[in-house]
Amino acid sequence: MDILKPTPDHDAFRTRLREFLAREVTPYADQWEKDRTVPREIWRKMGQAGFLCMDVPAVYGGRGDDFRYAAILTEEMSRTGINGLAASLHSDIVVPYITAFGSDDQKQRYLPRCVSGEIITAIAMTEPDAGSDLAGIRTLAEEEGDTVVLNGAKTFISNGLLCDLVIVAARDADLDNPHLGLSLYLVEDGTQGFTRGRHLEKLGWHSQDTAELFFTNCRIPVANRLGAKGYGFIMMMEKLQQERIVAALGAVAAAECIMAWTIAFCTGHREGGKPLSKRQAVQFAIVELSTEVKLGRTFVDKLIADHIEGQKVVVETAMAKCWTTEMVKRVADRCLDLVGPHAIPDDHPLARAFRDVRVMSIFAGTNEIMKGIVARFMRL
Ligand SMILES: Cc1cc2nc3c(=O)[nH]c(=O)nc-3n(C[C@H](O)[C@H](O)[C@H](O)COP(=O)(O)OP(=O)(O)OC[C@H]3O[C@@H](n4cnc5c(N)ncnc54)[C@H](O)[C@@H]3O)c2cc1C
Repeated sequence: MDILKPTPDHDAFRTRLREFLAREVTPYADQWEKDRTVPREIWRKMGQAGFLCMDVPAVYGGRGDDFRYAAILTEEMSRTGINGLAASLHSDIVVPYITAFGSDDQKQRYLPRCVSGEIITAIAMTEPDAGSDLAGIRTLAEEEGDTVVLNGAKTFISNGLLCDLVIVAARDADLDNPHLGLSLYLVEDGTQGFTRGRHLEKLGWHSQDTAELFFTNCRIPVANRLGAKGYGFIMMMEKLQQERIVAALGAVAAAECIMAWTIAFCTGHREGGKPLSKRQAVQFAIVELSTEVKLGRTFVDKLIADHIEGQKVVVETAMAKCWTTEMVKRVADRCLDLVGPHAIPDDHPLARAFRDVRVMSIFAGTNEIMKGIVARFMRL
């Protein structure tokens, strides 16, 4: 039984998306990896085809779809083997802050263009000295009448260079509390005092622009505060469940692709007169790895079902994010050995996957932080 019970509409959406990605994304993957970014145009094409921000209510230009569509997006994006086009980050991690906490004016101003791909979003929490410990955020927000002045630096921000709108976590100068002193602010591209720093060269995710952002006397209207003043930490905590489910699903989907590529190679490639897959050592490795991937898939699908029901599955999500991202690293490592030198060229899908999965245990909260969350809830 498929616990997520996809309807014919979900299946049709998947088919349409898969065809779109095969036509518009996969053929350009190598070029985008070399370019270290993706073109703006592909965001617009995705938006026009209805593949961005599917959960945004129809009144703001979306389809009001359930989270199963988001899961399909994450899975199908993984199948392309290119992680630079951060459509899930935009649709299922950043924009949901606006949908959930934005004022009607903010929703009308931004959501339709987030859906159409005209606006690419980013979220800026991490700073050079604060990432795991969000209570250590130092970017300062000072109110001056109807204006808020932002000063500070952010780093490792995905979509950092391409983004038209960034949600910035900042400490309110007049609130003296490490947790209840943070707010979220919407900063548009072109705002005076908002500049981009280095495009960070990375181990993997080559086609994604990960960058530093700087705010120097950056003045925005108070009306650009997202949600209530001082509630930034609470909003981030509330949204982290979905972010980590997306991360765990991304890991499982990547592992499934890695297995599919490896099995195809081992059944097709002949050594000593017979396919590699006829050797017991290879068979056992594939069986062990496939079992791990299946365990991850079962765990994550259950969490998606619980999440759609509106359950709080913070602890299980932290466990899943941690376990699946370690699992996909094991799978990528072992599969690289199984395929051997054929997977070593830089542009081979397995080589790219091997590089790209490495960071999964680090972003969306490091796995040490995930274990800390679980340990706290277990009252250890
Ligand atoms: C490719 C990429 C994309 C990213 N995209 C974004 C983005 O879009 N927006 C954004 O805001 N951030 C983003 N990040 C940042 C990412 O979320 C942080 O790097 C991560 O949360 C770790 O925070 P940190 O960088 O401060 O590292 P640190 O917290 O300094 O971690 C360093 C090491 O210390 C360990 N550590 C820290 N605290 C503890 C503890 N209490 N117990 C045990 N060990 C601990 C960590 O696990 C890690 O191993 C991205 C990072 C990468 C690499």
